Amino acid sequence: MNRRYRKTIIAGNWKMNKTASETRALIEELKPLLAKAKWCDVVLCVPFVDISAAIKAAKGSKIAIGAQNMHFEKSGAFTGEVSADMLTDLGVKYAIIGHSERRQYFNETDETVNKKVIKALEAGLRPIVCVGESIEQRDQGVTMDNIRMQVKIALKGVAAKELKKVVFAYEPIWAIGTGRTATSSQANEVCEGVRTCLRELYGARAARSVTIQYGGSMNAKNAAELLAQTDIDGGLIGGASLKAADFTQIVEAANQ
Ligand code: PEP
Repeated sequence: MNRRYRKTIIAGNWKMNKTASETRALIEELKPLLAKAKWCDVVLCVPFVDISAAIKAAKGSKIAIGAQNMHFEKSGAFTGEVSADMLTDLGVKYAIIGHSERRQYFNETDETVNKKVIKALEAGLRPIVCVGESIEQRDQGVTMDNIRMQVKIALKGVAAKELKKVVFAYEPIWAIGTGRTATSSQANEVCEGVRTCLRELYGARAARSVTIQYGGSMNAKNAAELLAQTDIDGGLIGGASLKAADFTQIVEAANQ
């Protein structure tokens, strides 16, 4: 973390978990627990159908609500899809873009990620752009090549003044939902590499103000060490965000 230049953001990715009533209950449980979280922003990325309940429940707290996806077109014949404007109209502030599960199961590509980033920014949503390598890419020594390509394509056409609204989440695919976390130095090395890439594209000043999260089996036990690294400015948390006590401990670690 480096609070001098950028905000620490802890975001939960609930994936396809929790009904609307379970959403209300978990947020009510979290609200008093997170009240002391002064030094970091807290975001919950909930399923589309839970967004209204989440926004209502989070009112008056420091919890912002995010979506887990969005479509890149403004409106039209895209059955089953949800636009950025529909999200902002409900009060949604963030949208996860290009999560590896979307890339793997729903054919998302770097190009669709780019279109979504542009549309999110146009609509006033902060995109949380996920990048990460497979275990094969890590073993072949091409982690950073892959990440740099993902970052560069995601940002095609994004103006320098918009950059600080973009959040990156470095999520090694082999660490998501596996209980296998990247070591703090592996995670920091890639987050630093993302920042170097941003520096090359936008200059040092712009690059240092971008929040870069780590995601991949972050939990109450390993959060403090990961968040103490120079270039890890928060976390994108799956499994551990579904339990109030675990998520609270991660937020507390970000407040140290
Ligand atoms: C995620 O879904 O982005 C994630 C990091 O999941 P988990 O924390 O469960 O590995």
